[in-house]
Amino acid sequence: MTVEVSARETWRATLGQLELELPRNTFDTWLKESEGVAFRDMDLLVTVPSVFVLELLEQRLYGAILRTLRQVSGRQYDVRFQVPAQDAPPAKTAAATPFTADTAALEPADHRSVWPPPDTGISFSAKYSFANFVVGNSNRMAFSAAQAVADAPGQTYNPLFLYSGVGLGKTHLLHAIGQQSARRGQTVRYVSSEQFANEFISAIRNGATEEFRHRYRSVHLLLIDDVQFLNGKEQTQEAFFHTFNDLHTGGYQIVLTSDRAPKSLALTEDRLRSRYEWGLIADIQSPDLETRMAILYAKADDLRIDLDPGIVELIAKRVQKNVRELEGSLNRVVASARFNNTPITLDSTSRLLDDITARHAIDPERIIEQVAAQYKVSPADLLGDRRTKTVALARQVAMYLLIYELNLKNKEVGILLGGKNHATVRHGAGKINAELNEDNQLRQDVLNIKEAIFT
Ligand code: ADP
Ligand code: MG
Repeated sequence: MTVEVSARETWRATLGQLELELPRNTFDTWLKESEGVAFRDMDLLVTVPSVFVLELLEQRLYGAILRTLRQVSGRQYDVRFQVPAQDAPPAKTAAATPFTADTAALEPADHRSVWPPPDTGISFSAKYSFANFVVGNSNRMAFSAAQAVADAPGQTYNPLFLYSGVGLGKTHLLHAIGQQSARRGQTVRYVSSEQFANEFISAIRNGATEEFRHRYRSVHLLLIDDVQFLNGKEQTQEAFFHTFNDLHTGGYQIVLTSDRAPKSLALTEDRLRSRYEWGLIADIQSPDLETRMAILYAKADDLRIDLDPGIVELIAKRVQKNVRELEGSLNRVVASARFNNTPITLDSTSRLLDDITARHAIDPERIIEQVAAQYKVSPADLLGDRRTKTVALARQVAMYLLIYELNLKNKEVGILLGGKNHATVRHGAGKINAELNEDNQLRQDVLNIKEAIFT
């Protein structure tokens, strides 16, 4: 018996799983904007925003994507990426799509001659509107502040600084502000801080800093997502500092998001911190049970599916950390029922959730093994005292992953790594965490390890 599951749903379900497995940044940068559009025989056609993204997905993530697609669908599909025809820029311009430094190897050689970079032509995702944002105690203040700013840009809280852990709605609120202001005829510029940094670097290379200035100072609202990625980028911070001052003095609105409070950001440009603190700082906490349930009902509505309250409660109780995982889990539950053409029951949901969490329950030994494999050293080296450069680096990467991926305590990690001091562990993990922002090779190494661990 064949069950018709649309290309869109199949891809969404695949994305739901990938989102749970890939590093957040990788997912957001390369996959978030993709859409499943059709099946051609056994090929699933997926559109992506640019040729640049397409190349990266094919070269770097194809294996992981294919495995996940096949696992989620239970069929031997292939995936084909394409850039929608009407938007496909001519090859040269496509090459200049804002790039991140870690993909430098993929950039065509002449990208430097193209300035300005093509505008990303932000179409704010309709999905990320104020109307679609479920408000609870955990996010009420951030939500109200975002609305106030969208209603009267530059007149209430300026800047508005939103911070929270991953998947709690910062980007959602930024889009909502952007959408609403754009609808009222305001010019809005929305960028990730990485994009800001890349454009700045590219402007310097091209001797186009004047245009860069103009580009960022001719808007009513500047929305910058994930400013923690400006950490360690000295010149970019300085450029941002001046942009910030000009806009602020002119009465234009600035909204920033970050994964931590301004006081915890490692800023070389210390004046920036005080600027961040000028307006309103609002954090978003993990939603409580009621809010999680309300979110699930809203998402189920979007999926046009009637969920039993018992099922909603079960998922909401089991998935607590963030809304992204909540959404991902719901997508998996719905997709699985559709693929298998079976009703969604408490039993099947519970089993599926077990399955999802089992994939999360990675044991520490596996991390140690994969780190060792990546750096071509032996696990025993990581547990020992050798201090060659490679071993020391690999050891710190292991510390980082054990702490940040498994949420282990410094002390536990120390024991796992052959009795290292907890201060050494804290230092090592912290060092890697900071260097990930700047070191592309390191980022790629960690990505490879994670891919190996999770697939
Ligand atoms: P962040 O930028 O904080 O990492 P996102 O804004 O990307 O998080 O949110 C992750 C996902 O969760 C998005 O699909 C978003 O729409 C959804 N989401 C987060 N908070 C809410 C909420 N309060 N109501 C509805 N959806 C939410
Ligand atoms: Mg975000």
